Amino acid sequence: MTDHRNPIAPLSSAKRIVIKIGSSLLVDPSSGIKESWLDTLVEDIANLHHKGKQILIVSSGAIALGRKVLDLPKRPLKLDESQAAAAVGQIELGRAWSKALSMQDMIPGQILLTLNDTEGRASRRSYLNARDTIERLLSFGTVPVINENDTIATSEIRYGDNDRLAARVATMLGADLLVLLSDIDGLYTAPPGTNKAADFIPHIETITPAIEAMAGSAGSELSRGGMVTKIEAGKICTRAGTAMIIASGKRNHPITAIRNGEQHSFFKAKQIKAGARKAWIAGQLDTSGSIVVDDGAARALKRGKSLLPAGVVNVSGSFARGDAITIRTSDNSILGHGLIGYDCVETDLIKGAQSDELQSLLGYAGRPALVHRDDMALVDNSPEVNETTESPQNAR
Ligand code: GLU
Repeated sequence: MTDHRNPIAPLSSAKRIVIKIGSSLLVDPSSGIKESWLDTLVEDIANLHHKGKQILIVSSGAIALGRKVLDLPKRPLKLDESQAAAAVGQIELGRAWSKALSMQDMIPGQILLTLNDTEGRASRRSYLNARDTIERLLSFGTVPVINENDTIATSEIRYGDNDRLAARVATMLGADLLVLLSDIDGLYTAPPGTNKAADFIPHIETITPAIEAMAGSAGSELSRGGMVTKIEAGKICTRAGTAMIIASGKRNHPITAIRNGEQHSFFKAKQIKAGARKAWIAGQLDTSGSIVVDDGAARALKRGKSLLPAGVVNVSGSFARGDAITIRTSDNSILGHGLIGYDCVETDLIKGAQSDELQSLLGYAGRPALVHRDDMALVDNSPEVNETTESPQNAR
């Protein structure tokens, strides 16, 4: 069954796309990396990249590759064994991506993340650093290649599956679309391998409990995530404004296949970008400092812009980069809350300064935003409506 609801649209309209590749697509347990398949995928990626789209790759395969290189037995691995396998496999994996991407004139940048780095709540500084580094990689025109840092992640800080990791990366970076390439071509009403009457679902407007119940628990030998983690990924990203596609990667040129309307499931995004994230910024944070902004900055924030140093007239309190602060207007009423990109000493130093003065004041090339719009929740949210109509990229 083909999705007739304009299958070309999501990939063509998306500006920032996260593509997640499952281990079983990329790694053959006996021969290693499936290079010729990878080359066809990377040709598709090059096609999108050279059209000006920003592509992020979340690639599994470290454990599977390490397992092959080390010739480990077929039984399930213990945690320390799979972490050692990941250490060996990640080098191979990076090499494979580097070779394939550079053949298409793209530069990869490797990022290994733990759960803490993407959750924000657990470690705001790591979250901001991870996000800023990936943003910088994208602004350099490179293709970030991301995996979980399997070698050191303990169970408390471990995703264990790259479906949810990819969804977190997508929401952290405000991506328009997440594509999960897998060994199954989308969502069925029941596992299609065991149930011949299973119907394919091409378009999912909202992930309801009924949709969740369809996920079952299917998985394959090499990949941890079955449909359950894919639906969880869908919940994470659609809620935050990123649409999701589940498609088969078991064919050459898997992205072109989606564009040509081959069967896949499309999960529609909720309209409000970063709404959930803003809710916890607004609700949960004890602020460690206060910033007073001038009227021009207050108006700009209400229009959905980031807070720049130029609009700041006063700084109080003691805070580090990544801490929550309160943003106040000149009459001292609370405008909102946000996670600040500089510590209190630097903030005081650059208050009122124009962007081109930051380098000489700080002694290094600072980031333009004091509080990024995605890290800010205003108390009166009525003027924030342009959040739904304006792409966050416009304000970066
Ligand atoms: N991070 C794991 C690896 O690279 C993959 C996890 C998964 O299969 O989702 O081997």
